[in-house]
Amino acid sequence: MFCPNCGNEVAEHAVVCLKCGGALKPLAGAPAAFDPMAKSRIGFILLGIFLGGLGIHNFYAGYSGKGIAQLLITLFTCGFGGIVTWIWAVVEVCTVQVDSTGRPFSS
Ligand SMILES: [Zn+2]
Repeated sequence: MFCPNCGNEVAEHAVVCLKCGGALKPLAGAPAAFDPMAKSRIGFILLGIFLGGLGIHNFYAGYSGKGIAQLLITLFTCGFGGIVTWIWAVVEVCTVQVDSTGRPFSS
C-alpha cells in the first residue's frame, strides 16, 4: 500500500510511514490504537497521593487552574490547608477519568 501523505510505498501492515512519519489508516477491526499522548492513570493517582496537596497531579493532567488553586491554598496556609487540598486531590484521582483535553488516561 502507499502512504496517503507522501505516496511512498509502505509495508502492508505499517502504522506509520517511514518516509514522512505520517500516521497511516488503521486496519478495520483493529483494536483501538495505543495513544502515545494519553497520560498515565497510575502516574496521575501516584502524583495525587504523594503530591496532591501541591496540585501536581492536576498540572500533570493539564488542569493548571485547579493545580494553581491547590498549590496556593497549601502555600498560603503554611501547609495546613494541604490536608484539605490532599483530600480534594484523592477525590479527584478517584473520579477524574480524562485529562484537560478530554483524552482518557491510559491504564
Ligand atoms: Zn509518507
